Amino acid sequence: MTAKKYGGKSVDEWIELHSIIQQLVWCEEVSWFNTEIKKVADAAAEIPFGEAGVMDAVDRLERFRPYIAKVFPETADAGGLIESPVREIPAMKAALEEKYSLTLRGRLVAKCDNLLPISGSIKARGGIYEVLKHAELLALKTGMLTTADDYSIIDLEKFRSFYGKHSIAVGSTGNLGLSIGIMGAQLGFKVSVHMSADARQWKKDMLRSKGVNVLEYESDYSLAVAKGRREAAADPSCYFIDDENSINLFMGYAVAAGRLKKQFDEMGVVVDEGHPLFAYLPCGVGGGPGGVAFGLKLVFGDNVHCIFAEPTHSPSMLLGLYTGLHDEVSVQDFGIDNLTAADGLAVGRPSGFVGRTLHELLDGVITVSDENLYLFLAMIADTEQMALEPSALAGVPGIIRVLADQDYLARHNLIGKMEQATHLAWCTGGSMVPDDEMAAYYKKGKQLCG
Ligand SMILES: *Cc1c(COP(=O)(O)O)cnc(C)c1O
Repeated sequence: MTAKKYGGKSVDEWIELHSIIQQLVWCEEVSWFNTEIKKVADAAAEIPFGEAGVMDAVDRLERFRPYIAKVFPETADAGGLIESPVREIPAMKAALEEKYSLTLRGRLVAKCDNLLPISGSIKARGGIYEVLKHAELLALKTGMLTTADDYSIIDLEKFRSFYGKHSIAVGSTGNLGLSIGIMGAQLGFKVSVHMSADARQWKKDMLRSKGVNVLEYESDYSLAVAKGRREAAADPSCYFIDDENSINLFMGYAVAAGRLKKQFDEMGVVVDEGHPLFAYLPCGVGGGPGGVAFGLKLVFGDNVHCIFAEPTHSPSMLLGLYTGLHDEVSVQDFGIDNLTAADGLAVGRPSGFVGRTLHELLDGVITVSDENLYLFLAMIADTEQMALEPSALAGVPGIIRVLADQDYLARHNLIGKMEQATHLAWCTGGSMVPDDEMAAYYKKGKQLCG
């Protein structure tokens, strides 16, 4: 029997010809920097959507603010804006310097998406946005709603009974299901969430308590998505939220960038040619980090450098980008098990849509071991009192990897600028994790701190 070929090469040939593939197969930590990156203006010219798409999402979220403020009282103070704080985390930076006997130039900042209202993770951006967009389109089509209305009327019973005739389906490792389930159920939709084996029990319990139909699978994320897609295709009243291919999710995530710019302005954080920004984004299927990175590139241009972060056991985006095969390969094809404590990132096959859209915009991808995710989890809890789930820590070592790669820094003319750099770890989730579960994560991390 001849070995199966991927892009014309067997797995053994890939390993022999590319040492980084060998490292991925061994589940080693790697840092990969993209040599095919282009200027934003050049790369964006090849992408069939842009600024206008992001602005459309910004405007839609504005229209929904009165409704969100009404039905989710925790957003009332912010006028129905679903946004998270940004803050410098100097004590965490000092702890990393001590642990690794390094001097880390520049400042380390956290984007606290763990504190996003409604669902406590980055999925509260894209997931909620896509549900709202679908709800708006349905209501506009029937004439129940116009874009000039005060959207708090959507809380009326007539809207809930209208949405009750429609269903929404999604496949998820947990957090996307949580966002879509909570938002969809609030509007009155019938929601089915197809959960992969990685999904935590508490997420399923919470959704069921809200009347969401949770279907569980023994298999990983890709199959859960396929099941959801199949079920939805059989039912014309069912709208399938396609985490692997959705431009709506992507745009919902991209909105974060303009808001971050405003927060940076208020904090006095400058991003320009002399003050580069490095954003480290935990990556599962790619929609969340992809949408945020796309938004950041539109806002900050070539002065932002976006780096994805994956678990060593689920390096699907890196494998897809490096081989150029995107969703045509999975980590399992290369004998990598896709088993990780970072449940939000446990994705074996990346989004082809995201990989192909961003392959000339993304600066690189790093991989991080589960042990280190736990270690950073305990460290950031102790130093900054931040409670994060394992997935949310993947970007934290980005600062170390970037500063260690002189070739990458030289190629982008960054060496003399690093004292003025801002390193932004996008902390993607955690506030909804039950206390006992968080305590167990922390304990594991403390043991690894030694
Ligand atoms: C889903 C998720 C991510 C990654 O988003 P993708 O769109 O799957 O790439 C990162 N962190 C957390 C906590 C998540 O739930």
